[in-house]
Amino acid sequence: MAKDSEQTEQPVERTLVLLKPDAVVRGFAGKIIARFEDAALKIVGVKMKQMDADFTRRHYFDLEERLGREVYDFTATFMQQGPVIALVLEGFDAVATVRKIVGSTYPNEAPAGTVRGDFSHYSKAASVVAGKAVANLVHASGNRDEAAQEIDLWFDKDELYAYRTLAEIYTY
Ligand code: ADP
Repeated sequence: MAKDSEQTEQPVERTLVLLKPDAVVRGFAGKIIARFEDAALKIVGVKMKQMDADFTRRHYFDLEERLGREVYDFTATFMQQGPVIALVLEGFDAVATVRKIVGSTYPNEAPAGTVRGDFSHYSKAASVVAGKAVANLVHASGNRDEAAQEIDLWFDKDELYAYRTLAEIYTY
């Protein structure tokens, strides 16, 4: 086991979060962003954007391969229903931390206390009947590589900001 003095610093990560059109039209942007701020994650980039078909394909480039054409088409339609708010969040283990705060894909299965569990009860079965995507409020990068790729797609370098939060100054 490494001695304390030999332990390497825990890496700071960045991750991409999208507040999907359902979160925006339901007026939950502030409440959802507050969940991330409450966990002391740092907002280093933010923008609102109306996705088009080409950009949706670039963002969900492997979704059709993973879940099939129908799920891709439902999701692409849903994501273009209205503007989304994109955030880049920074912190220790940020990718996993944000996924934990967001909860699992299907809101009815997401635990209470998570964004998807608290703001929706929509299910996979309901989405099949409706012929729609599972509206689940938030997208969050799945792993570090995906996060890097997604941040690169959504943000120019000069749209990301460096500053110190009070948590960094006083807590860490
Ligand atoms: P996550 O967003 O939790 O990482 P995926 O990347 O697997 O999940 O799926 C992307 C999005 O596609 C989901 O967030 C959801 O909106 C939609 N989706 C996933 N599975 C289904 C499904 N079976 N039916 C309809 N929509 C789905």
